[in-house]
Amino acid sequence: MVKLMRKKAITVIGSGIIGICCALKLQSEGYKVLLIDKNEPASGCTSGNAGHFATEQIFPLANKEILKQLPKILLNPKGPLTIKSNYIYKIAPWMIRFLLATRDQTFQKGTQALRNLNEAAMAAYEPLLKMAKLENLVKNKGYLLAFEGANANRLAQKETKTLEPYDIKTQLLNGHEINEMEPLLKNCEAALYFPEISHTTDPYKLALGLFNHFISIGGIFEKHEIIDLHSNSDKSIDLLTQSKTIKTEYLLIAAGAFSQKLLDKLSIKTPLDTERGYHLMVNQSNLLNRPVAFAQRKFIITPMSEGTRLAGTVEFAGLENQPNWRRAEMLLDHALHFLKPLKNVDRQDCQKWMGFRPSFPDSLPVIDRCQNNENLFFCFGHQHMGLTQAAISAELMVDLINGRETQFELSPYSIQRF
Ligand SMILES: Cc1cc2nc3c(=O)[nH]c(=O)nc-3n(C[C@H](O)[C@H](O)[C@H](O)COP(=O)(O)OP(=O)(O)OC[C@H]3O[C@@H](n4cnc5c(N)ncnc54)[C@H](O)[C@@H]3O)c2cc1C
Repeated sequence: MVKLMRKKAITVIGSGIIGICCALKLQSEGYKVLLIDKNEPASGCTSGNAGHFATEQIFPLANKEILKQLPKILLNPKGPLTIKSNYIYKIAPWMIRFLLATRDQTFQKGTQALRNLNEAAMAAYEPLLKMAKLENLVKNKGYLLAFEGANANRLAQKETKTLEPYDIKTQLLNGHEINEMEPLLKNCEAALYFPEISHTTDPYKLALGLFNHFISIGGIFEKHEIIDLHSNSDKSIDLLTQSKTIKTEYLLIAAGAFSQKLLDKLSIKTPLDTERGYHLMVNQSNLLNRPVAFAQRKFIITPMSEGTRLAGTVEFAGLENQPNWRRAEMLLDHALHFLKPLKNVDRQDCQKWMGFRPSFPDSLPVIDRCQNNENLFFCFGHQHMGLTQAAISAELMVDLINGRETQFELSPYSIQRF
């Protein structure tokens, strides 16, 4: 007689790209998955990112170079980083941890940990994209990191040297070569071309496509805000919503920048905060062939199916302050310097967006199991890299949940590290 195995039931809180990839992987491995979000699937930070699979970004943001530039950056009203005055006091402990993370040993360990995730990132996406038939949303046209001004060539060469030991393919380009690749770009004197980098033409459609596939293979989605959590003595967890209590055998928290609010209910403390970022969508397509980032101004322009997306900036202002739309408009001022056709763009026609990057001071996510309840798991804090690292994080998470050996050591992503 065939013995029927009971499917293990798991609830995932958060239907951003991280929660969706985890839910899809778990469902495809035979779990009975309930995905919960207070909003529509993929509508959070996931919906408006720059679409850049940034596997070349292997250095934690806390580094000695950024420390030198920090005073100048903070004094520039159009600079890439700002702190809202009512948030200075709240972000101070995070900033102290950020400063401490610039120490050589921490930086080197962080580099290795980011490298491990990024090197495995695209291979982990492949089966997910294939099963959901979404390969057409990912383009393999490389990426340009552009430099401007008299120091452009020196800075580009320095960047090449920094990346040399890490086996990341790059090619140094002069202004003429840049224009052969991107005829509409101007004022870029040097650039690094990364031929192996991909981008998506629509990060929202990509995440939604993965979500739809999750539903099509039996996954369940419910729209609730989880307002409280209780861990029971049998290790099950009660999730409280406005209308009901949901009891779950296993729980995965993947609520992005809001994850700490849920952890507060379990008295678990982490320094998770948010680096708010903005985008401005220009209603013109085919201006670029690939994403181009501007090294000194620290923003990116990505060609998307619905137009051209200008994205970037970091704003420390927490989860409650209203968006400062000047941060999004400022992106157009910067882009006008580099893209010839943008001078004809009417600002009123541009769509503005703000998203909450979930960020730890050491630039690493948490991918871990709870110490006090082995049925509780965490996957959040992917800062500027959530699109890039979602599939590999899901792969690691599912291995951890299944008690399988993981591709590489997970201690750098431990929740105990703080
Ligand atoms: C301007 C900008 C550009 C970016 N560009 C890139 C890029 O090019 N490449 C890249 O790799 N990354 C990029 N990122 C980062 C990336 O977008 C994020 O790291 C990623 O979206 C985080 O995904 P997430 O699933 O963790 O969070 P989210 O997408 O925010 O999802 C979290 C979900 O949890 C839900 N939730 C929260 N609390 C609760 C609750 N109590 N109950 C129920 N549901 C809850 C929310 O509603 C939300 O849907 C960019 C970010 C920004 C802001």
